[in-house]
Amino acid sequence: MSVEIKTRAVVLGGSLAGLFAARVLSDAYDDVIIVDRDKLVGVDGPRRGCPQSRHINGLLTGGQRAIESMYPGITAEMLADGVPKGDLGGTVRWYMLGRQLQQRDSDMLCVGPSRPKLEHHVRERTRALRNVTFAEHTDILGLQATPDGSRIIGAKVQRQGGLPETIDADLVVDATGRGSRTPVWLEELGYEPVTEDRKKVGLGYVTQYYRLNSDPFQGDLSINVVAHPKLPRGCIFAKTDGGRVEMTTYGILGDHPPTDQAGLFRWIDSLGVPEYTEALKDAELLTEPVAFRFPTTLRRRYEGMRRFPDGLLVTGDAVTCFNPVYAGGMTVAAKSALVMRDHLHTGASPRPLDYFRDLARDVVDPQWEMTHTIDLSFPGVEGRRTFAVRMALGFTRLVQIAATRDGAVTAAYVRAAGQVERPESLQRPKMMLRVLFQALRGPKIQPRKPVVRTAPERQPV
Ligand SMILES: Cc1cc2nc3c(=O)[nH]c(=O)nc-3n(C[C@H](O)[C@H](O)[C@H](O)COP(=O)(O)OP(=O)(O)OC[C@H]3O[C@@H](n4cnc5c(N)ncnc54)[C@H](O)[C@@H]3O)c2cc1C
Repeated sequence: MSVEIKTRAVVLGGSLAGLFAARVLSDAYDDVIIVDRDKLVGVDGPRRGCPQSRHINGLLTGGQRAIESMYPGITAEMLADGVPKGDLGGTVRWYMLGRQLQQRDSDMLCVGPSRPKLEHHVRERTRALRNVTFAEHTDILGLQATPDGSRIIGAKVQRQGGLPETIDADLVVDATGRGSRTPVWLEELGYEPVTEDRKKVGLGYVTQYYRLNSDPFQGDLSINVVAHPKLPRGCIFAKTDGGRVEMTTYGILGDHPPTDQAGLFRWIDSLGVPEYTEALKDAELLTEPVAFRFPTTLRRRYEGMRRFPDGLLVTGDAVTCFNPVYAGGMTVAAKSALVMRDHLHTGASPRPLDYFRDLARDVVDPQWEMTHTIDLSFPGVEGRRTFAVRMALGFTRLVQIAATRDGAVTAAYVRAAGQVERPESLQRPKMMLRVLFQALRGPKIQPRKPVVRTAPERQPV
């Protein structure tokens, strides 16, 4: 009698990076188990293990495309569920260096689900895969390795109210986010410490949901102010599911938005965007303002390690936590799953260091370099302003000025910022000439769009 040997992958962490990993693993392993301490199935609101789900998690076009490639039809499902859409260059109203960019459709679909709505759709599609199961309410305690530590053969976990146990696995994928313990576990197994890069950005977020009695959008999906050295405060004010508007505002290096209502509105006024002030003056407040602190970015350079155990991969924020104002983390998590899929294609166990090197080169490096460079435009952010950094910052400034005149520059800019093209795409000779020509003419002031009332003015009592 032959005994069927089944292969199993265990994913530690059932947030977005874990769900994306499970999606690609389900094509290569007989069983895929997702472990998380939270309740996941059926949840469609913010959850404890994912505190950022109370804040705007903007999905870049590069991420939307990667997600759609893993879950065909998911974008249409979200739209049918009341998620609004737009174009990242055409119907997102960008303010950079305090000036509005020229809008131009750029074939960059932008969908606006709240973070819980996005996760819910991705989770439901992952749950529908016949070989994926969820171990909820389960704490992840550690890794199970062979005696010589050269291979990971399972994960140590503890279900709520249960005893510690080991789930055997042919592959373990760590998607436990920023607090990942893999660096510690590896050292306990005798591996060299992984190099970690951190940069202090001292970011403070505050988020609030509204129902508006006026329409400041006029067909746009969102109105976004990007922080810059003269005003290091920003805001994303966006339509989202349920006919709501989600507003996340932020400040860097300790200049944080207040959470009391009057103070928050004063802070928003300080951004100098009359559309915000007008629209908020009689908006219905759907939630209290909620704060989040993000002190440092973090990158774990697994690709630089000399040795790494077989049977273990790491993905998502457990590898890199980007400055969230650039809205890149979910997109990187989705693209990381596509890299993982490439390393599973052979049918043999993936080679971790090969995976980490491809991940770094194709996905993490471009986003890390671009966001790191822009962070250095703020004088208080520590880091070396090399000649290359100063040149890149100077060029970015020219792009932002040129984009107030020329929608083609806006479109090229959002293709790079939206992780559809690499940042170098802006330096193609034709585009560089266009940027220089337009920037030399100086910034152009765009006509303001009106804020139109959608409900009658309230009569004074
Ligand atoms: C304030 C903020 C704003 C952001 N805004 C954006 C944005 O606009 N756009 C964007 O693309 N990205 C944004 N991001 C990043 C984005 O949220 C993440 O990149 C994305 O969620 C992927 O994270 P992850 O799945 O790797 O980890 P996480 O989302 O952190 O999930 C980790 C999971 O592991 C579980 N877990 C951890 N430890 C254990 C344990 N010991 N036992 C059991 N379970 C455990 C947790 O419960 C959780 O479910 C933002 C992040 C923050 C903090």
